[in-house]
Amino acid sequence: MSDYDYDLIVIGAGSGGVRAARVAASHGAKVAVAEEFRVGGTCVIRGCVPKKLYVLASRFKDDFEDAKGFGWRVGETAFDWSALVSAKEKEITRLSGLYEQTLGTANVELIRARATIAGPNAVHFSDGRTARARYILVATGGAPVLAPHIPGLEWGVSSNEIFDLPSFPRRLLVVGAGYIAVEFASIFTRLGAEVALAYRADLPLRGFDADLRQRVSEALTAAGVVHRAGALPTRVDKSAHGYKVAMSDGETREVDAVLVATGRRPLTQNLGLERAGVATRENGAIVVDSQSRTNVPSIYAVGDVTDRINLTPVAIREGHAFADTVFGGAPTTVDYDCVASAVFTTPEVGTVGLTEEAAQQKFASVDVYETSFRPMRATLSGRAERIYMKLLVDGDSQRVLGAHIFGPEAGEMAQLIAIPMRMGATKHDFDATMAVHPTAAEELVTMR
Ligand code: NDP
Repeated sequence: MSDYDYDLIVIGAGSGGVRAARVAASHGAKVAVAEEFRVGGTCVIRGCVPKKLYVLASRFKDDFEDAKGFGWRVGETAFDWSALVSAKEKEITRLSGLYEQTLGTANVELIRARATIAGPNAVHFSDGRTARARYILVATGGAPVLAPHIPGLEWGVSSNEIFDLPSFPRRLLVVGAGYIAVEFASIFTRLGAEVALAYRADLPLRGFDADLRQRVSEALTAAGVVHRAGALPTRVDKSAHGYKVAMSDGETREVDAVLVATGRRPLTQNLGLERAGVATRENGAIVVDSQSRTNVPSIYAVGDVTDRINLTPVAIREGHAFADTVFGGAPTTVDYDCVASAVFTTPEVGTVGLTEEAAQQKFASVDVYETSFRPMRATLSGRAERIYMKLLVDGDSQRVLGAHIFGPEAGEMAQLIAIPMRMGATKHDFDATMAVHPTAAEELVTMR
């Protein structure tokens, strides 16, 4: 240890950084984590966790409506934004505390300061200290990109601020149509806002299977979201009761808030990477090899800051693999195959593997199995809702290449179907599996 204050300094106490720190310490390393904000990172503080809580809050609207068909008389309902914000805040504080506790139990020192790299083995902290570390792990994550660059865009908010708006936005314009845009459009329309979704493509969720994109678009419309496909804001001005937004198609829209959800970028600015000579890509992402090592042998990076697959579970896996590789004597690489993901609109999207388009390009013959059916709940509720499922199968080997689900609990289904798909299951394996009846998921093993 002699030359170093720590075996490892982790910059950023998000999902990837905390996992790496904890596991490195369990392998006997002396570890410190620097964090300038709250412990937990984007996912816990202003991402996946509060988002899912808001999704759950928004779904009560449908529950109240559907209950009537099952014999319930539901009285007057009203939604209280400030009650949700403070309940969320309480839970986030609890979780952030648990993360801190975990670090403490693992003997990881938490340094509450902004950290910058001062050299291949040196980190400078905003409290004035500089420490030397055998290894440095950059796990600073990402931050929203506000685009397009138009006058008045500074009046817009990103997903960082939307959770804590001082008052409920009765009229909301969402710009973009990726994960964040469609999830918040779905949340706010159910909580009672008039929502417009402005995006440059013809359908939301570019990169997803075309049949899912179509269905998400229709479900958002059915929930009351107004699509402004092909139209983007050109100017935002403050008005007496909110903001006046000029759109590229000539329309002017008066809103209470503009949510700009036009992607995220790696958080590498002013981090001192150049002082150590760490290579980055044009978008700022740190370049790493399959073991998350940068071009500087003592510096590693995991999670969104490397812009590989920007999902929390991936960052956690990368952090764990880093710690096992560097401190556990067990070189480990992350398997990026068959990473399932969900988009928490209502109904939601669950997806694993190749889209139909990608499968057709990659394989000589692709068998497509599809089904669309009414969920059991909709029979009595009367809700005009259908579940959609698609399996893409390699015509030669019969291996299942892609699974795309749109409907209630699609995220849960995607998680489970990812296991057989990773194991190389064939359509025959699916068909030979007995159904669980009555469920929606049984359709996955009964599609012919
Ligand atoms: P995405 O990359 O998913 O979507 C960005 C959206 O912004 C797209 O619709 C894109 O349009 C649009 N856009 C980008 N640049 C411009 C521009 N200059 N002008 C107009 N529109 C523009 O980003 P998100 O912010 O939604 O999410 C960031 C990441 O966070 C995701 O990639 C995902 O990894 C993660 N995430 C995951 C979630 C989950 O797993 N459920 C939930 C939330 C976030 P176009 O398609 O035309 O390029």
